[in-house]
Amino acid sequence: MERSTIVRVHEGLHARPATRFVKLAKGFESDVELVKDGKAVSAKSSVKLMLLAVKENQEVTVRANGADAIEAIEALIGYLENPTAGLDDEDTHAPANDAGKEAAPAPQSAPAVSGEANGLRGVAASEGVAIGPAFAHFPPDIAGQGRMLQAEEIAGEIDRFRAAVAAVQARMDRALAQDSLSAGDRGIVAALRDIAADDSLTGEAEKAIKGGNDAVSATITAASTIAADFSAVDDHYLNARADDVQAVGRQICLVLLGQDDVSLENIPQGAILIADDIGAWDLARAPLKRIGGVVCGHGGATSHIAIIARSHGIPAVLGLGDKINALRTAQEVALDGNSGQVIIDPDAATRADFAGRVEAAAKERAGLTAFKTVTPKLADGRTIEVAANIGSLEEIEAAQEAGAMGVGLFRTELLFMRHMHLPSEDMQAETYAALAKAFAPYPVIVRTLDIGGDKPIAGIEFPDEENPFLGWRGIRMCLDRPDIFKRQLRALLRAAVHGNIKVMLPMVSDISEVTRSRALVDECAAELKAEGVPHATFDLGVMIETPAAVLIAPALAREVAFFSIGTNDLTQYIMAADRLNPTVAKLNDVTNPAVMSAIELTARAGVAAGIMVGMCGEAAGRPDLIPAFLKMGLTELSMSPASIQRAKKTITAMAAGE
Ligand code: PEP
Ligand code: MG
Repeated sequence: MERSTIVRVHEGLHARPATRFVKLAKGFESDVELVKDGKAVSAKSSVKLMLLAVKENQEVTVRANGADAIEAIEALIGYLENPTAGLDDEDTHAPANDAGKEAAPAPQSAPAVSGEANGLRGVAASEGVAIGPAFAHFPPDIAGQGRMLQAEEIAGEIDRFRAAVAAVQARMDRALAQDSLSAGDRGIVAALRDIAADDSLTGEAEKAIKGGNDAVSATITAASTIAADFSAVDDHYLNARADDVQAVGRQICLVLLGQDDVSLENIPQGAILIADDIGAWDLARAPLKRIGGVVCGHGGATSHIAIIARSHGIPAVLGLGDKINALRTAQEVALDGNSGQVIIDPDAATRADFAGRVEAAAKERAGLTAFKTVTPKLADGRTIEVAANIGSLEEIEAAQEAGAMGVGLFRTELLFMRHMHLPSEDMQAETYAALAKAFAPYPVIVRTLDIGGDKPIAGIEFPDEENPFLGWRGIRMCLDRPDIFKRQLRALLRAAVHGNIKVMLPMVSDISEVTRSRALVDECAAELKAEGVPHATFDLGVMIETPAAVLIAPALAREVAFFSIGTNDLTQYIMAADRLNPTVAKLNDVTNPAVMSAIELTARAGVAAGIMVGMCGEAAGRPDLIPAFLKMGLTELSMSPASIQRAKKTITAMAAGE
């Protein structure tokens, strides 16, 4: 018995919808299959269902055979046609590892790192000094035992494997039962648990054990086979599930071997995290308050790891390349995030020196708190707005604690990366409204989606590009995908009712990108009006991040309400030096005269047109550069919350002529 239908599940049968579908299917005794393009898979395996890569609006057939076949078909077709009926919150959470892919992998080549007497030098990525016990985060590779089992050992090995799978599932269930688990973490654990509970992985492994392989080898082979299937599907989102399968396989192997995995959860207070690479999302979920410093083989000064470290005031040295291996066995590590120096197992004199510097930095921080409530003004009476760069509502508190006069850059990417679906208009409107309310009457500048092939997002298919940083990203992608862009613009228009929302466009390099965006804003406003939905207009500005934008700044200034100079990208594009590549970190320098001239040209064009000129790149928080920027005419500086008080102090001292 079978029935066909068109799938209405938003973004297709990906992890959570697949799990929901399987849960329904398992409620029936009948054998149930889902058929697409002539290929049939069991509807009771979420891994197999995901691998069928069923997308929204595709035709599929539900086939059932058994006593309750009619009911099964009825229920499953009902779900495919109306998936939101009874949808619970869990279905909107991110699957494992999604956001860990937000930054492009850093290059493998040896970076500009020099050896020193008892230390190393890498990229100074987040200021501050730290000294503490080393916490090495190098998850080891697991190897099979490579022994063929005797026939009489097989049954026992299968029991051992099943017990390990049960232990992993139980561990995940315990994690899910914790109230303290954040919504994002819950989604990640739930997606992994689904895979651990799925017959595809366990069935494949048991088959290998029956063939005489030990359980660890069998698990590695099974996980690799299924991961390869996920990697082969032509879908970014499903490709990322390969890592989830490997992660579950790894957990099962660790239980079989009686080993514990290295987890960031257990990092001791004040420890220095040493890793070759760490996803920004992993770092964001780690107990950041306990991390004393970060040293990584990958990453550059404006990589997202660096940005997270700076926004939490964690000193960091990145881009050590292969030299990171020298830190694997370190007991204690000292690092200087201002100079990029890393010292392994410092001697007594170095230890005393660093301890003194850590203490002095703590004193400086204490002295800076007096500037939290200061509204800095220049001698000519101009108020300088010192605002925060943030990427999530969770960071509002840190920004307010620091004394932020609004938000100068709200990076909306995280909102898109955290979820398995593209975020809905309602969800976005709520997020932007919460921001606007939190900072009113100060402005909140929301940057429209700035995403490209280097940072994949579930629900947007990116082409393979040789040079993603020169490719389909930022405003270019948004204008090609008005369905996504308009959803964000409508949400912003709705949120503008609740406070002082401004909107800026990233990666602009041509006037038409502004005029086309404005036309879409007008179209969205007209739609909302016709629908009777409350909304308000907002100031539209542009980020100045490309050489083209600098060169057409006078014309751009006539089209927009403000400029915000994105020095991270502007430096990379002016200097033609990849911001993530430590090998060219020296060239990626905002103080290079070429970049400073570009900033000055931009400021001149903005000031001449009478529009606000601000800066939201990392340079905006540098006390050594702030006076020069203000002399050029900038009146807004937006930075990591950790830099705000020092910036206010710098501006106050400048006004006093110090
Ligand atoms: C910039 O490029 O300076 C900027 C602020 O944007 P992002 O770092 O998010 O690319
Ligand atoms: Mg940028």
